[in-house]
Amino acid sequence: MTFQALSLFFQKLESTSSRLTLIDILSDLFKASDASEIDKIVYLTQGRIAPFFEAVEIGMAEKQVAGALAASLNIKREEVLKLYGKLGDMGAVAEQLNSKLNPSASLRARTQNSKLVVGEVFAVLKQIADTKGEGTVEKRQTLLSNLLKKLNSLSSKYLVRIPLGNLRLGIGDPTILDGLAKAALNAAGAKLDRVIARKPLEGAYNRTSDLGLIAKTLWEKGLDAVSSLKVIVGKPIRSERCERLPSAEKAIEKMGTVDAQPKYDGFRVQIHKDGTKISMFSRNLENMTQMFPELIEGTLKQVKARSAILDTEALAYNTESEEFLPFQETTKRRRKYNIEELAKSLPLKAFVFDLLYKDGESLIDKPLVERLEILDRTIKEDGVLTKARTRTVSDPKTLNIILQDYISKGLEGIVVKKLESSYEAGARNFNWVKLKRHANGELNDTIDCVILGYVFGKGKRTAFGAGALLVGVYDDKRDEFVTVSKIGTGLSDEEWKEIHKRADKIKVDHKPARVNSLITPSVWIKPEIVIEVLADEITRSPIHTAGSIVTKSGDKEPGYALRFPRLVSFRTSDKKPEDATTVSELISMYRQQNKK
Ligand code: ATP
Repeated sequence: MTFQALSLFFQKLESTSSRLTLIDILSDLFKASDASEIDKIVYLTQGRIAPFFEAVEIGMAEKQVAGALAASLNIKREEVLKLYGKLGDMGAVAEQLNSKLNPSASLRARTQNSKLVVGEVFAVLKQIADTKGEGTVEKRQTLLSNLLKKLNSLSSKYLVRIPLGNLRLGIGDPTILDGLAKAALNAAGAKLDRVIARKPLEGAYNRTSDLGLIAKTLWEKGLDAVSSLKVIVGKPIRSERCERLPSAEKAIEKMGTVDAQPKYDGFRVQIHKDGTKISMFSRNLENMTQMFPELIEGTLKQVKARSAILDTEALAYNTESEEFLPFQETTKRRRKYNIEELAKSLPLKAFVFDLLYKDGESLIDKPLVERLEILDRTIKEDGVLTKARTRTVSDPKTLNIILQDYISKGLEGIVVKKLESSYEAGARNFNWVKLKRHANGELNDTIDCVILGYVFGKGKRTAFGAGALLVGVYDDKRDEFVTVSKIGTGLSDEEWKEIHKRADKIKVDHKPARVNSLITPSVWIKPEIVIEVLADEITRSPIHTAGSIVTKSGDKEPGYALRFPRLVSFRTSDKKPEDATTVSELISMYRQQNKK
């Protein structure tokens, strides 16, 4: 496929906010791709040249991209930057300048670039990413500007956005999976049923997190080969997560005999060991390998296996008092700079609570008890890596004592896990349940919401931009963001300033793709900022779209909403919008609350 043809698909994708239309366009795009390029096309559609978990960054600053664009058009960089100041999108700048300044060149390019295929553009982008050392800025700029010279205005619009890390199509992984399922052909070239194809694709995604690999396998070898894609060291497994239950009694009643583990309050790190090569991933698939040198060292010293995948929670601790530090301190380690310094002042320990792979064999289908036994033999006792405490419990009284004991030691609570359960990658179900501090009935857990827009306020605080935030949760079945509340009270002037600082960078002039809302705020912003919200109660409301459905008879069932919501913290450092609370979690919290 030519890059120009791909750009035409991008244009169509950009101009729709309907999810079903997105899937249709993606399916057409994928059907038009062949096996040698489908993986590249999948990555490019998300503005990447590798899966999210690979730390490949093209990373060019605005000034550099402006320089490349100026060079390709024979104009001054200042001219490009001036228009950029006005339009705020380098893609729009490239498109405008290209067609205005250089119609003949762009005409020439139009015929030339009909031959410039996706693979060639991809290779140059990779070359840009791989350029390191002295003269990097100039070399990258030259590579990009040479490419731009061969592209027409529409293609240049999308190309310049990629090194800036902002392709602006906003297509999430589940929508790509739907597009692939819709386009899927079997090995013999016959069309597959979209619903049937979706499940094995999703299973493979949960095991490997690599959409490009899945697409390539599907195109080259068919759906059965996708179903047999195994866990691969170096590719993160999508984390299993916890459901909620209100009490120890309910947990035993529902789950039977469980393994009770402390709920450590740090951040999740999945550690992969492949010989001497170590890689680490966050729960939202970010590559964190460079951030935690002490965990690399600990893994090399303590893991008695050639290859392994460990599921852990990392916490910072005080070396003198040996005490663990609160989450706010631990989370300071999620930085890309001053790594050595931070590793000294806030050293981490990782509590290993699961073993998912060992010496060439995936363990995810084995029951938890067996995985824990193997884990016990695999980690040399206590160092930077420490095995999580595990206790087999089958009566609620003992479970309550354990819960209270951990809480009195300052922990968040416990995680109880079904002994016989396999590791269900990417799932949140009753195999794992978290029991927390105030597990006595009230709505005790916070809700992670995504900011979708804000409404201008009135009165003297308007100076800070105060008003109300329109927030939503994630509907993982439909891959869209649905509204649950407007949050107005409880935000300090400082918090409003902070919100505006972040929001103004990502505001858009129309409802973004994948947002489903009956309310139109004064300003829409892209669904990127995750905040933790505490509310008194979950109620039903016709003005919110979370969980609202239209019944077969055409009646509309109201959505779910938060009563008296207030902001607790920003979760942007560790949560992607798709990691926000989901509609099904919200509904299950609503049901639990109403049982009391
Ligand atoms: P919360 O905000 O309550 O931590 P969350 O949405 O961040 O919830 P959940 O899946 O609901 O994530 O809670 C599980 C998280 O708890 C895991 O992602 C992990 O980071 C952490 N955790 C701490 N200790 C354990 C443990 N022993 N087993 C599993 N997860 C643990």
